[in-house]
Amino acid sequence: MNLEIITVGTELVQGQTINTNAALLAKAFASIGVSSYNQQVVDDNQKRIEESISIAATRADLIVLAGGIGPTHDDLTKESLAHYLGQELVIDSQQWQYIQDYFIKQDRQLSPLDYKQALTFREGYCFNTEDGLACGSLYFDADANQYYICLPGPPNELKAMLNKEVVPYFEQKIDQPLATETICLNFYGIGESQVANLLEPIIQKARELDIAIYAKPRHIRLVLSQKQSKIVDNYQLLDETSHQIIDQLKDYYIGEGREHTIEAYLINRLKQLKLTLSGAESLTGGKMLSRLTQVPSASAVIKGGFVVYQAQAKVDLLSIDPELIEKYSVYSEQCACAMAE
Ligand code: AMP
Ligand code: MG
Repeated sequence: MNLEIITVGTELVQGQTINTNAALLAKAFASIGVSSYNQQVVDDNQKRIEESISIAATRADLIVLAGGIGPTHDDLTKESLAHYLGQELVIDSQQWQYIQDYFIKQDRQLSPLDYKQALTFREGYCFNTEDGLACGSLYFDADANQYYICLPGPPNELKAMLNKEVVPYFEQKIDQPLATETICLNFYGIGESQVANLLEPIIQKARELDIAIYAKPRHIRLVLSQKQSKIVDNYQLLDETSHQIIDQLKDYYIGEGREHTIEAYLINRLKQLKLTLSGAESLTGGKMLSRLTQVPSASAVIKGGFVVYQAQAKVDLLSIDPELIEKYSVYSEQCACAMAE
């Protein structure tokens, strides 16, 4: 099954809201083995939403629209999809009841447009929700063998609907569910192109794996993934390849995991060596210790430190000889060494 995601919202194309839903959706579908090659972002305009749908329909068999199913005049996604499909929108009685009860409980007045959030395709399937007010809606075009879905825009509502309704629904539809196993390896002190160069023979041998190299702000991350049928459940190639890579780049390897950082590596290494660390910071104004203390259990290693920004603070708090500062200035190896001592 081949997916195309269309995220809808003027605030998205104008850059006011970061399009986190596109990533959320892509990841959720990838996790059940649905591949996806294109995405679109479109503003709240019926003509352009329909244009996007028609483009997606030429190349995808699952078209997911997210955003624009709320109660306001600019929420046009269901209307656009219904018009494109030639489908009628009807009120889902269960969702409509939930909306009315919700307003009574909250002691709030229903507005004339609130019924819009209970709309669904007459010949479709409704994803009911109690995590928000707007239901999701699915239409299956049996002739073209294509699925069309509208989902809510607020990320917490979308996430809940995906996890509770949409992903389980499609997991059943897929004949051969695929599973992806991923390993993240982190390296420090080496550049992206050098990593690519050194790993070329290993990457060539492991063509069945997806191997991506990312330059992160302070390190290089390698993400290896192996996709295969859930039934097989054998990740030998992934394990072997990751061991070969660690071996090849062992001088730069700082550890495994998506959350792993150079800070965590440093704290863990000092812990192993039973060493402690304190800081004497000038220009960085405390940033070094601030970053290191983000690592869980940093207190086993970090004692504390000094932020000595002005020259006088170096004299007062770290007993640096004023003559040394006079002679070499604060921007000197001599001053840095004296601070460390
Ligand atoms: P809507 O359903 O388009 O009216 O959007 C409702 C809320 O969800 C607004 O606060 C949007 O900014 C937010 N939202 C809509 N689409 C996205 C998206 N793709 N990523 C993140 N937030 C979104
Ligand atoms: Mg919107």
